[in-house]
Amino acid sequence: MTTFTIEKTDTPTDPARRAELLANPAFGRVFTDHMAVIRYTEERGWHDAKVTARRPLSIDPASTVLHYGQEIFEGMKAYREADGHVATFRPQANASRFAASAKRMGMAVLPEDLFIQAVDELVRVDQDWVPSGDGQSLYLRPFMISNEVFLGVKPATEYLFIVIACPVGAYFSSGCVSVWVSEFYTRAAIGGTGEAKCGGNYAGSLVAQAEAKEKGCDQVLFLDARERRFVEEMGGMNVMFVRNDGKIVTPPLGGTILRGITRDSLIKLASDHGIEVLQEPVEIDELFAGAASGKYTEAFACGTAAVLSPIGKLIRPSGEAVFGDGKTPGPVAMKLKTLLTDIQGGRTNDVHGWVHRI
Ligand code: PMP
Repeated sequence: MTTFTIEKTDTPTDPARRAELLANPAFGRVFTDHMAVIRYTEERGWHDAKVTARRPLSIDPASTVLHYGQEIFEGMKAYREADGHVATFRPQANASRFAASAKRMGMAVLPEDLFIQAVDELVRVDQDWVPSGDGQSLYLRPFMISNEVFLGVKPATEYLFIVIACPVGAYFSSGCVSVWVSEFYTRAAIGGTGEAKCGGNYAGSLVAQAEAKEKGCDQVLFLDARERRFVEEMGGMNVMFVRNDGKIVTPPLGGTILRGITRDSLIKLASDHGIEVLQEPVEIDELFAGAASGKYTEAFACGTAAVLSPIGKLIRPSGEAVFGDGKTPGPVAMKLKTLLTDIQGGRTNDVHGWVHRI
């Protein structure tokens, strides 16, 4: 275990104000009082681990991240369990995905146990910020930037790893989301960085997300970069479809989509409950035809932030694919969501050992 220096803030949020903020937190706009920080240099390796007051960073304008974008992040949550304890969900999976992202981006690799410890240390210090309301949690954002002061295209020799946290409620209001199929912009090509959780992937997706909003949709669905023929994933979530033979189909992990931890958890839970999940290519034309013919009965997106969001409609320039009545979440999506959130909230036996108590 690494020893973290704990430097508590001199100006903690007043408990009454915190209670007010926790009552109805807007996603990603309210932050806790502290952050965990670890530095890396080639000479010293990982060092100076601490939990300190959350405050602006001071970085040199020539810091490499500002120019060449070596930045990766994770998204995970701490939950207030039914018995009052605080726990994170599958932090090992986030730690290992973070290490894989670092390797892909040529960054220093943070040892996985240190990643988990940093998250635990921050959650412990800010544990009063973990809300207990229905659908609420403490969203955790571990991230790493390169901060060598140097202009030149090469992997940096200095990095900063930080964890910040924000209490959150439900991500989408309720019911079903509508999704715009991006037929021009793509997210990731074979050999690219699609499987890494790097900021650049999201920067590149924003114009497609803006196009989706313009078309009145909540989210964007990306197709493969080579042919625009197969479904890949959404801007910040993986996607699954329920067929009328009772099976679920989801695009396979081929290096261009993120290895979603929610995706993996739902595949395991579905199979525990006798629902087969096929990891197979899904053709967009076949999906639209199958929604019309009744072959596809439900569609849903899955990811840490929203957990599971039923999709009512996919919209593209040539028409719409409507699932069910387009408004009501389907039974398979709802069942899987309950199975997962019951484990996360400590209301069900954690047979897979996913719940990590802090
Ligand atoms: N795809 C993308 C592009 C994402 O940003 C996310 C969110 N991390 C996901 C899928 C879902 O991953 P997870 O279930 O691990 O949150």
